[in-house]
Amino acid sequence: MKSSYRGRIAPTPTGYLHLGHARTFWIAMERAREAGGTLIYRDEDIDPDRCKPEFAEAAIEDLHWFGCQWDEGPNIGGPVGPYRQSERMPLFLDAWKHLKEGGFIYPCDQSRKDVAWATQAPHGDEKGSESIYPEHLRPPIGTGKTAQAPGETNWRFRVPGDRKMQFDDLSLGPCAFNCLKDFGDFLVWRKDGQPAYELAVVVDDAAMGITEVVRGEDLLISTARQLLIYEALGLTAPEFYHAPLLCDSSGQRLAKRHKSLSLRELKEAGKTPEDLRKSEDWWSGMDD
Ligand code: GLU
Repeated sequence: MKSSYRGRIAPTPTGYLHLGHARTFWIAMERAREAGGTLIYRDEDIDPDRCKPEFAEAAIEDLHWFGCQWDEGPNIGGPVGPYRQSERMPLFLDAWKHLKEGGFIYPCDQSRKDVAWATQAPHGDEKGSESIYPEHLRPPIGTGKTAQAPGETNWRFRVPGDRKMQFDDLSLGPCAFNCLKDFGDFLVWRKDGQPAYELAVVVDDAAMGITEVVRGEDLLISTARQLLIYEALGLTAPEFYHAPLLCDSSGQRLAKRHKSLSLRELKEAGKTPEDLRKSEDWWSGMDD
């Protein structure tokens, strides 16, 4: 019998996975196992321009090779599927509607750097270094409330000015981010018709009954934003465990562009998952 713990691994198929992904997902798997819980695999493929089915397939293949296993996922099924975000649009639209009716979000048709904002990736703003969307550019309260559909415009969350988002991270301890100082009005819907990462991830984690989110430290500030969405949608937030990022020998964090450390390349170079889990790279940045 499984415990009530529900964790997930949620890769975005925009390239081949590298050792850093494998390490985060391995930690997620171990935490789910130690808790006697369920691990879900969710394919975060909502960005049609950047996500490719071949990368989605490769991610599953490479993680299986590495030794990761999960209980529910795209090719397995399960009670809270479908497990591909691109197939979960009705849930995201419902959430958009709820946020819009509650006055939490507004349509944003500013031309200034619109495209840059719209394509903002979840990893683009670590260390709180994002530029804050200027408050004076917000439309009046109530704008967009009667919209029937998101349409071809971006929608942003109206971040309250007087809040500090605090949470106890299970890896890092107490964390706090100041609204409108560390982060500003963020995208929840993109003008290309897709939900933004922050909205889709909250909706899915809640709908899939996730009790603990394990992910990389680069998404720490996203947790602050996501807590605002949980609150606005009246949903209970899970616990969070932000794992340290794996860095290369020059101290740079790994990205999909580091081809040499992709699981594929490592496998082709004759490495075994066991070698990799014993390597210096694997242990970089970890306390024990
Ligand atoms: N899909 C996201 C990524 O690959 C991870 C989302 C999350 O864990 O919240 O970066």
